[in-house]
Amino acid sequence: MPHRSTIVLIVLLIAGSTATAAPLAILPKDVVYDAAIPTPRSYLGFEIGERHIQHHQLVGYLRQLASVSDRVTVEEYARSHGRRPLIMLTITAVKNHQEIESIRKRHLRLADPARSAKVAIKPLPAVINMGYSVHGNEPSGGNVAPLVAYYLAAATGEQHQALLDNVVVLMDPCLNPDGFERFAHWANNHRGAVPNPDPNHREHREPWPSGRTNYYWFDLNRDWLPAQHPESQGRLAMYHRWKPNVVLDFHEMGTDATYFFQPGVPARNNPLTPSRTFKLTRQFARHHAAALDGIGSLYYTEERFDDFYMGKGSTYPDLHGSVGILFEQASSRGHLQESVNGPVSFPFTIRNQFLTSMSSLQATLELRESLLDHKRTFYQDALALARASRVKAHVVAAPHDPARLHRFLEILARHQIQSYRLAQRLRIEDQTFEANEAFVIPTEQPEFRFLEDLFARRTEFNENIFYDVSAWTLALAFQLQSAELTDIPAKTMLGQVFSGHRFPRQIGSFNKTDLAYAIDWRGYYAPKTLHQLLADDVNVRVASEPFDFVTGPEQVQHFEHGTLLVPLGIQPEKRAKIVRILRDAGRDGVAVHATTTGLTPNGIDLGSSSFQRVPKPKLLLVTGGSSYEAGEVWHLLDQRLSIPVTLVADRQLSRVDLTDYSAVILVSGSYDAMSSTGVAKLSRFVETGGSIIATGTSIEWLDKNKIVETAFRGKVAESAVDEASTPPLRRPYAAADVDAALRLVRGSIFETRVDHTHPVGYGYAPQATLPVFRNNRVFLEPSQNAYSTPVVYEAHPLLAGYVSAENLATIAGSASVVVVQRGQGRAILIAENPNLRAFWYGTNRLFLNSLFFGPLVRNP
Ligand SMILES: [Zn+2]
Repeated sequence: MPHRSTIVLIVLLIAGSTATAAPLAILPKDVVYDAAIPTPRSYLGFEIGERHIQHHQLVGYLRQLASVSDRVTVEEYARSHGRRPLIMLTITAVKNHQEIESIRKRHLRLADPARSAKVAIKPLPAVINMGYSVHGNEPSGGNVAPLVAYYLAAATGEQHQALLDNVVVLMDPCLNPDGFERFAHWANNHRGAVPNPDPNHREHREPWPSGRTNYYWFDLNRDWLPAQHPESQGRLAMYHRWKPNVVLDFHEMGTDATYFFQPGVPARNNPLTPSRTFKLTRQFARHHAAALDGIGSLYYTEERFDDFYMGKGSTYPDLHGSVGILFEQASSRGHLQESVNGPVSFPFTIRNQFLTSMSSLQATLELRESLLDHKRTFYQDALALARASRVKAHVVAAPHDPARLHRFLEILARHQIQSYRLAQRLRIEDQTFEANEAFVIPTEQPEFRFLEDLFARRTEFNENIFYDVSAWTLALAFQLQSAELTDIPAKTMLGQVFSGHRFPRQIGSFNKTDLAYAIDWRGYYAPKTLHQLLADDVNVRVASEPFDFVTGPEQVQHFEHGTLLVPLGIQPEKRAKIVRILRDAGRDGVAVHATTTGLTPNGIDLGSSSFQRVPKPKLLLVTGGSSYEAGEVWHLLDQRLSIPVTLVADRQLSRVDLTDYSAVILVSGSYDAMSSTGVAKLSRFVETGGSIIATGTSIEWLDKNKIVETAFRGKVAESAVDEASTPPLRRPYAAADVDAALRLVRGSIFETRVDHTHPVGYGYAPQATLPVFRNNRVFLEPSQNAYSTPVVYEAHPLLAGYVSAENLATIAGSASVVVVQRGQGRAILIAENPNLRAFWYGTNRLFLNSLFFGPLVRNP
């Protein structure tokens, strides 16, 4: 059946088949273009859409544009892990450029309720941030950016001038340079001279890991909240320098889809987003619809996608007085691919993104005053909400681990939330917070809504279906001690504002007479210190019993299980090296204490066999499962702790000699590409004394392959078909998808209890409770061995997020971590993901303990 969109597509394909005519046809034809402005083709030597633009070409062209056009300036705001520049173009009328700082400042004042009333909105341009290709293998975004920039710089005429006069465009042409480049490389290198639309063709099938993610395989469209990557850190700084009125977020989805633009599912909006945001989004939608109707492109709205998790590019702005809009284009994933809608060509995908880029600009121009007023009202309302809020301040601390607290406060600061050092000792109910060690975060701040969302512990929702996670309570992820103040904090309580500049160092003292050093394992960066010592062949021991330690005349310090001990007498030749590493440890916030005697007043003496020597680790991470989780491990070890890890693909494991490795890490996923030789090798590795550290669903794979047998708790069937003998209650056919979604565990936070005397629990406080993040249905039975379940779920474990009653009942009392002994070795099975998105600082320790101390575990 001939359809208008198919006809347009055919026309495009015909145009696209010749090298010359092609995609510049995307640009409006009824416009005169300034001949002095270079076209993308003149710079690149090919038309946009003909090949995938490489990142350096994209940056090169846009820099040239900025050097030629006085409407365009460019600045680099960050470098990716792969050292690629992230740039921002500012495009507006020349007269606006001349007073750009004044425009920016007036605009920012709208977000300051104390000063916003006086800002004149009539003469103020609106600010729109156009963000492309945060997912690198969704390339129509990064490829349309040069066309949009060219159009804005080169188009002439009255209408266009009105746009430039009234709108400041901040264009982020590629939010994820490393992933974008990975994909461009793949697509360009597997295209033939003749376009091959067969979905099975190599060009359309990326290898592991896909270009979606960044260098360490993180989804940057989840990192707006934790902001653990340079791309997001730079972007947030840029965001808050402007606080734009509109933020566009261009994506792609499956090839068989059509086009989506927001609003998303209304019931799944973040509850702290004001309804006006949704209304404004709807007004934008009318413009997008008209633009796509104009070429007969199919599209949909208010389905599937939502604005709930505030760490996404289209949701973050909604909670900052902006309007964030998500666009999703069916992907050609390559140059041309068949779909249920006919062949999808790369130029076609670019064309749709061009049209909605244009409709967004038009809508911004039209809604300028409403958008500016929305910003002002949003922040005025925020303050009113804060004043009405029961909670007047949050108090947080991380006893004995100032580094972890610092990293938490850094996140708040990136979101423009102010924290103050606690100036006096404070008791709230049964909790004590020490002066100078805790921080106070008053709720009466302009960013009240975001702050509330960071601390929220929701367990009830409008709708129990989530596109992403259902909980992200930051204080729980950091395992902080926290309390709420219901009175406005007194001025005397508030010390210095946290600025982020001064990292909490620990000053150790090092003397010739020192006999041994104790390293406090509670410091977040202590594993980095331990690794450096072991890499230098220093003899390091770990205490399996508590002890006291004479640190000076009449000075005694208490140490718990897991404290590290570095005896100097048995390795005098290493003294200088050791002292150098331990001074570095202080810079990382790790406390080091010296003693001059091996005799302790209480507990084990320094020569006791309860100090076990820690073996030098050699770590292997099997890749091929979840690239996110593998990337989280790699990032944690490599970036944060400077610990090397060998990455080996599952299908290549059979070729690796495992005898030298101390631990093999498997993250969630199925490793079916591993040959039977690889599986046998892994079995032998454990049998002969190796440690397997397995997280999430990889535990099921290990069990299925009989490498580590595990007792699972019964699962509620995930599919709608129940295997029970009695027929289930009849349900409407159309409800099947929703019913299945309700049975998922979709990113919720639960409370567990840690055995701090177990090597896996070292560094946690005695009887500590530990919030864990779970997004799977791997339910483990506690071990039959009484000593081998170091972490177990509480009886009423739900802290935040959605979970069905059946799943909650299964989780209660189940094991979070189980150690399974096999032969000379063992597997440490962690049911959840302890390293989620690089901000679960609280559970990182469980994982790191398993790596370093796993080899010491013997099931009693
Ligand atoms: Zn995407």
